[in-house]
Amino acid sequence: MTREAITYLLWSDLVGVTRTRGVPSADLASKAEAGLGWACAGQALTAFGSIVDNPWGPMDEARQIPDMASRFDYEGIPGEGWSAVICDSRASVTEDWDCCTRSFYRRALEALRAETGLSFCASSEHEFTLEAPGPVEAGFSFAAARRGNGFLRACCAALRAAGVTPESLEPEYGVSQYEIACAPEIGVAAADAALKAREIIRAVAADHGARASFTPKPAPKAVGNGAHIHFSLVDAASGENVTHDPADALGLTARAAAFCAGILAHLEALVAITAPTPVSYYRLTPHAWSCGFKAIGLQNREAALRVAPSPSADPARRRKGWNVEYRPSDGCASPYLTLGALVLAGLDGIRRGLALPPAIDRDPADMTPDERAALGIVPLPRSLDAALDALEADEIARGWFSPTLFDVYRRLKRWEAATARETDEATLFARYLNAY
Ligand code: GLU
Ligand code: MG
Repeated sequence: MTREAITYLLWSDLVGVTRTRGVPSADLASKAEAGLGWACAGQALTAFGSIVDNPWGPMDEARQIPDMASRFDYEGIPGEGWSAVICDSRASVTEDWDCCTRSFYRRALEALRAETGLSFCASSEHEFTLEAPGPVEAGFSFAAARRGNGFLRACCAALRAAGVTPESLEPEYGVSQYEIACAPEIGVAAADAALKAREIIRAVAADHGARASFTPKPAPKAVGNGAHIHFSLVDAASGENVTHDPADALGLTARAAAFCAGILAHLEALVAITAPTPVSYYRLTPHAWSCGFKAIGLQNREAALRVAPSPSADPARRRKGWNVEYRPSDGCASPYLTLGALVLAGLDGIRRGLALPPAIDRDPADMTPDERAALGIVPLPRSLDAALDALEADEIARGWFSPTLFDVYRRLKRWEAATARETDEATLFARYLNAY
């Protein structure tokens, strides 16, 4: 059978789904200037085939304009591969669209750089459930690695071919849970890498007769799938990591500390973006290493922000590798919204010179409520509705989004929360397992 190459134009929407339109690869160059049209109302799609009320009419159209530098190929099974390119959704060839997730992140990066001279470096740890036929091996076991070995090897090669650098690939703690952590990238490339990684992992799984799901919780009592973000601040001019100060108790420079303080100050609002589904809140519980509390600590896996020191004894390498991990994020969020919101929260901390609360060196869940209160440690919102209430009440965070983007995001997420309340748990968890 004769086959012709197709290139898929990709964009990440408000509910963290990668949407697409495809063109024959031979015609891609002719789409470089104006891309393809896409009804604006598509930005109001849920992950479940429905669409929420939105301000757009039948004539409103955005342009999906490929960023040719982001083009990548997926080889897959011989004859079944595809090419893809990530788009900016623009109002026209010359104007940004205020509802594009990629431009949201880009504008956040531009503001950070203009006001502080800093770039943002970030990487993602992708945890997922691999639904595959056959026996289930123990968590973290070599048996589980061997069972997934063909899949993991193919992921390793496919990621690298797409310009994403896999750093570790392994079975995780949960039933059929795996993790692939990727190398840090600076700027928009960090979110592009997260999009590519998720789609490639999904594609490789399908080619192995399996299914990879990034749902935060495959079942109410299952081990959660996180998408932790490791970030550092980089001097835009010199390219040096300026996150680490060996003289500080947490090892953070004043700017990195203020950036982290900004994230903590807006944390309840941030989780409405980074843990964006009803099932995300089954994951954000204490004693699950996903984090249940607003806190920061050196190496503390129960804190929302874990300072992750470089293990190197060499001072230059320590400075280069020092980073902070943001833990209350999962794979249902658009990586562009997640990283953009983190940058804007951090920038607000730098602007206002916010100070960090005391660092926590034990599990906050083991403290008494009084001990926690004295240290300013509060639980994270317990539901998507509670997180959305916090986002709506946080005037600074609301200002990060255009009024239209904020309104449509809010409608989408309130719809998800309301729908979840009317759905039995088994159906709800199956729905997210399937959609993500
Ligand atoms: N699976 C945990 C989560 O839900 C994270 C475990 C780990 O620290 O890697 O975030
Ligand atoms: Mg992990």
